[in-house]
Amino acid sequence: MTQPYPKLANYAARPQHSRGRVFAETPPQFRSEYQRDRDRIVHSSAFRRLEYKTQVFVNHEGDMFRTRLTHSIEVAQIGRSIARALHLNEDLTEAIALAHDLGHTPFGHAGQDVLNECMRDYGGFEHNLQSLRVVDELEEKYAQFRGLNLTFETREGILKHCHLEKAKQLAELGERFLKRTQPGLEAQLANLADEIAYNNHDVDDGLRAGLITVEQLCEIDLFRRQFDEVKQRYPGLGGRRRVHEIIRRMINEQVSDLINHTQQNLQRHQPQSSDEVRALAQAMVCFSDAMGELNLQLKQFLRRQLYQHYRVRRMTSKAGRVIRNLFNAFMEETAMLPPEQARQCKQLEAEQGEQGRARAVADYIAGMTDRYAIIEHERIFDPSALT
Ligand code: MG
Repeated sequence: MTQPYPKLANYAARPQHSRGRVFAETPPQFRSEYQRDRDRIVHSSAFRRLEYKTQVFVNHEGDMFRTRLTHSIEVAQIGRSIARALHLNEDLTEAIALAHDLGHTPFGHAGQDVLNECMRDYGGFEHNLQSLRVVDELEEKYAQFRGLNLTFETREGILKHCHLEKAKQLAELGERFLKRTQPGLEAQLANLADEIAYNNHDVDDGLRAGLITVEQLCEIDLFRRQFDEVKQRYPGLGGRRRVHEIIRRMINEQVSDLINHTQQNLQRHQPQSSDEVRALAQAMVCFSDAMGELNLQLKQFLRRQLYQHYRVRRMTSKAGRVIRNLFNAFMEETAMLPPEQARQCKQLEAEQGEQGRARAVADYIAGMTDRYAIIEHERIFDPSALT
């Protein structure tokens, strides 16, 4: 029997009211439909590969930095805390959070941008859309269907944004982009939990890597405020404990603001179901204007000082070359693809021509971990490497 959710609000997603799965399945006996989704995601091979994919720093730069896996777990943690406070569905929030980055290429945004350029004439590449493709098509786990056959609500949460052209091909899932309406609250929430997680852990990782300093960060109001507070309360505290104390408080401030402001929004609009939430013109889960400003300041700082740092740029540039070289090499000679990918490529090419070939190559590259991409690049371009 599905466990009841005694504290769920009217506007929360309820598994018994789910819009369901593409392939109808017998309901789970001991779990809710969203727990089942979460479990399928955790057991997927794309999820395991997140361990060796870059967040900002390439995986081999150090064991202390976030990877896509630890990032996704942090998003799930923040998301669940907020979901519980707002009486939303924690299981659904967790499922979305754990799946949101499954489609990420190796080497973080650098990889995504270059793969998108490579795919320009073949329908483009977008990691968010790729996450959906992973759960809908690419995972090979079940006898009865391709992909993981997740519920509509989890898939809705994974698809954060979408071009209108693409949205037209996605039937019910693409509707909200065409009608400019909202996804359910758990999806809105997972999106902002993602933002809170990466802004704060990038501060932490950036400091740890020595690419940004506490002095620089004091230009940022959000940081400065907690810095002053910590200094006053714990005058002798320094080093990692001081940094972590500040970041922990920053996360708490953002999460508290998000919960309070969302509660106000929900009070004002009084949606009575998740479908009423979907019909609203604006998102209900959001920061106050003041926190929105502070967040923007932090994001702009990170863009300027961390993501554009010359050492990050070198990595980005190298990563881009690896991806581009691999793409061009496989496009030119698909016979170099491993047997499983070659089969997939042949099939997609038969269905869609060159566009299908490019899609299969992009799927293969996007599924690689950082280190696998580097090794594959060596195998193909280093004449002395054994294949
Ligand atoms: Mg993310």
